[in-house]
Amino acid sequence: VRLRRRLASTTAASYASLFPIDKYLYSMRLSDETLKDIMNRFRREMEDGLGHGTNPTATVKMLPTFVRSIPDGSEKGDFIALDLGGSNFRILRVKVTQDKKQPVQMESQVYETPDDIIHGSGTQVRALELFDHVAECLGDFMEKQKIKDKKLPVGFTFSFPCAQSNVLEYAAKTGKIILTWTKKFKASGVEGTDVVKLLNKAIKKRGDYEADIMAVVNDTVGTMMTCGFDDQRCEVGIIIGTGTNACYMEEMRHIDQVEGDEGRMCINTEWGAFGDDGSLEDLRTEFDREIDRGSINPGKQLFEKMASGMYMGELVRLILVKMAKEGLLFEGRITPELLTKGKIETKHVSAIEKTKEGLKKCMEILTRLGVEPSDEDCLAVQHVCTIVSFRSANLIAATLGGILSRLKENKGVARLRTTVGIDGSLYKMHPQYARRLHKMVRRLVPDSDVRFLLSESGSGKGAAMVTAVAYLCDTLSFE
Ligand code: BGC
Ligand code: MG
Repeated sequence: VRLRRRLASTTAASYASLFPIDKYLYSMRLSDETLKDIMNRFRREMEDGLGHGTNPTATVKMLPTFVRSIPDGSEKGDFIALDLGGSNFRILRVKVTQDKKQPVQMESQVYETPDDIIHGSGTQVRALELFDHVAECLGDFMEKQKIKDKKLPVGFTFSFPCAQSNVLEYAAKTGKIILTWTKKFKASGVEGTDVVKLLNKAIKKRGDYEADIMAVVNDTVGTMMTCGFDDQRCEVGIIIGTGTNACYMEEMRHIDQVEGDEGRMCINTEWGAFGDDGSLEDLRTEFDREIDRGSINPGKQLFEKMASGMYMGELVRLILVKMAKEGLLFEGRITPELLTKGKIETKHVSAIEKTKEGLKKCMEILTRLGVEPSDEDCLAVQHVCTIVSFRSANLIAATLGGILSRLKENKGVARLRTTVGIDGSLYKMHPQYARRLHKMVRRLVPDSDVRFLLSESGSGKGAAMVTAVAYLCDTLSFE
């Protein structure tokens, strides 16, 4: 209470002058002008990724997904969906019916993915364990659902950069190839191989059930499809969670990698890699560089490392360490806990930024780190969290703004009306994030009515949606 009263009596100006933080973290505050500049840079990256001559060396890969339409509500069937690569590994059973009240029924189960499998290093055999594990969980799920004797179509949400093995559409039928691992995954030996083949092999080896892997989709595509089932205007899908990425519907005539000029196709941008060619160097701070150096994929996914949930807590921690070292926090106290990687997580940042109990939470979290924080320390740390999470929302507003302004141009309309399907733990859990993002997007793309639609049940349902569209409409056939 004391703390809250004090905060209330602190005016904005004196608040800012209370701490030298604003000056200290000056480079993390991005002006509208800078954001517009980032938006334009990203638009150029998109064009490079789409263009025939520029694609091979482009950093933002702009992967064609071969998904040509969003659901139209006529889909039905009984599907299994696997969701691997986000914060959880989930298996779902999705029944899509024509029932008006409840067209989609789902049951799901979360499975643990042991760390040693995720990071599995060394041999090819080790990497295959990941798929053995997936196959085992699927067997368990089917057993529990009592469908082991059935051969239900399976959709696979695989939240990593994947490409079809060839630019030609029929090649989609041979499955997808993983380009690189991102986030916490580093199972070696899998990069450059066909994930559908790997999974099919693992299932065959067991021999206790059969499965028909119909479609492999990125989680952004799953999100767009999920939201598209409810809102036909949905043509963008974005994830702001452990990692970050976006997909959207692009005009076929602009996609040099795929033949044909008619209609549209969903493009998985893989915007997490934005900046990997040095194009964001002027914006990266010493803290961003430190995060990158300590990561399992140095030099890769540089935009993702500035914006996504996996790194946000750690960014805050690095800033606090430096400030404490300079005597700007905790009277210079530095504890082993404060110095331990991972001790501040994104969920802590979210808790600290809560309007009512944020400062109390901050006190608790810092106390656990043993730094004996004062009231001022708590205010200061809350302020640091705000700057870091605000920067993330602003950066994503800029790249999303790039996509939206491109859509607007593609359609040749004076005003863009569209829906963005969204999912991800950071977006969902952080108390201010969504509001800040929406506001900035509207500022960066003024002539637009953008609806943000939260994907209710995650990207797994989307995989089922894609499978449904593929299975019934034959617009996609991966078999
Ligand atoms: C991956 C993307 C994925 C995103 C969100 C990134 O690290 O490269 O494929 O969509 O995380 O899960
Ligand atoms: Mg996910």
